Amino acid sequence: MKGQINRQLITIKGLSMINLKNSTRRFMPPILSLTILLSLSATTLNADEGYNPEALKSGRVDPSMHLQQGSTQAQAQKINEVIYKATGFGNTFMVVTDEGNVIIDTSLPGMAPKHKSLLNAVDDGPVHSIIITHGHGDHTGGVALWREPQTKVIAQENMVEFLRYQKRLKGLFIQRNSAQFGFDLTSLTSSSASESAGVNMLPNTLFDKSLNFTLGNEKFEVLHTPAETYDALTVWMPEYKAAFVGDLFYRSFPNIYTLRGTKPRWALDYIASIDRVLALGPEILLPSHGEPILGNENITAEMTRYRDAIQYVHDKTVVGMNEGRDVYSLMREIKLPAALDVGEAYGWVSWSVRGIYEGYMGWFDGDPVNMYAESPRSIYPDLVSLAGGAKQVISLAEQHLSEGDSVKALLLIEAAMAAEPNNPAVLAKRLEILTALRQASANLNESGWLNHGIKQTEQKLKKSQKVL
Ligand SMILES: [Zn+2]
Repeated sequence: MKGQINRQLITIKGLSMINLKNSTRRFMPPILSLTILLSLSATTLNADEGYNPEALKSGRVDPSMHLQQGSTQAQAQKINEVIYKATGFGNTFMVVTDEGNVIIDTSLPGMAPKHKSLLNAVDDGPVHSIIITHGHGDHTGGVALWREPQTKVIAQENMVEFLRYQKRLKGLFIQRNSAQFGFDLTSLTSSSASESAGVNMLPNTLFDKSLNFTLGNEKFEVLHTPAETYDALTVWMPEYKAAFVGDLFYRSFPNIYTLRGTKPRWALDYIASIDRVLALGPEILLPSHGEPILGNENITAEMTRYRDAIQYVHDKTVVGMNEGRDVYSLMREIKLPAALDVGEAYGWVSWSVRGIYEGYMGWFDGDPVNMYAESPRSIYPDLVSLAGGAKQVISLAEQHLSEGDSVKALLLIEAAMAAEPNNPAVLAKRLEILTALRQASANLNESGWLNHGIKQTEQKLKKSQKVL
């Protein structure tokens, strides 16, 4: 393929070659820390059922299903005469040049071998550079596989600290990720693949604000565009007006806070970085999750709406904070207006409201009772006893449930569990409430945590029934 590039054909003809079948709004996957990624087996990714976008759109499937994206892909997707994409839970891109190839993001360790063989079938020239859009494991998983002795591994300089941060909290991230994504904890901790990712994959070419280079006839501009993480970057190819934006854009409200835990993500960073990309006038937008968006008009419409949705939630939160409103009220009240409704299949507005609120102010809410090292839950047993025992509490929970307030019912059951942790009636009611919430859920991360709660409660219930 190399050396036979007719640029005149690229921007027009190249675009029409792109498979747009899956470009409708669909799931954008959660961000995994590197620890979770190491357990993903090729078997999982090549399951016979394959990836089912229709089921995923509803969000009512196990989160692990999303890892099967691209499992049936038989050949790399041609974006234009020089850009190719292997589809996965995280995509891998390859730019072919006369002086070696550039790989942009490398997906998960379990997917990387397939991506490599799909892309090598297009061109197996030397890998000049690997550019990592940020340090999450669904982007770094194949670096060790792709890297050759002379390969530059390019990242924004904040990635070094970001990888260290993930390593520092590895123990907790393993637990949180296994809960959120439904993986077996033992498979995570025993994974030998961990040695080939993360901090052992430190980039060897770092930049601060931007890095420009030309390879063959292709020009690359690498720009710092912090958003989901502070090391995030965008690769811009001016010749084709192509922007590889990593996780700067999803077809869902973003996770300005993720339930598995993260440092604060700054809403205003997303906005500034989106503006920076829009100002380039992209004709091809290549996110690392999901399908490309083509045409400046489409890109501008989608990214502007996405940016404005983030701005709206940010501004409403700030106004509420300055009015002295509490975080729970704002979580309940702030909703996207119809014109900015980008969907909540992945991120959820209410979590982002709290992420913004506590990102700015931290955990103290101004109530003196919350200065002390005593959880409100410590008095649950007293309250349950005052109510006359768990049976009374279950009955009130049932009342809330019949009125459609599952969350209040769940809170009451939390109190009953604190008082009588092994009471099968309490556990059975918890299971019933969590299952109802799960059935109603259209959000992937919410579904993941509900699945986790259901599994835990089932185990406890089984145990308690054995004791009886
Ligand atoms: Zn990602």
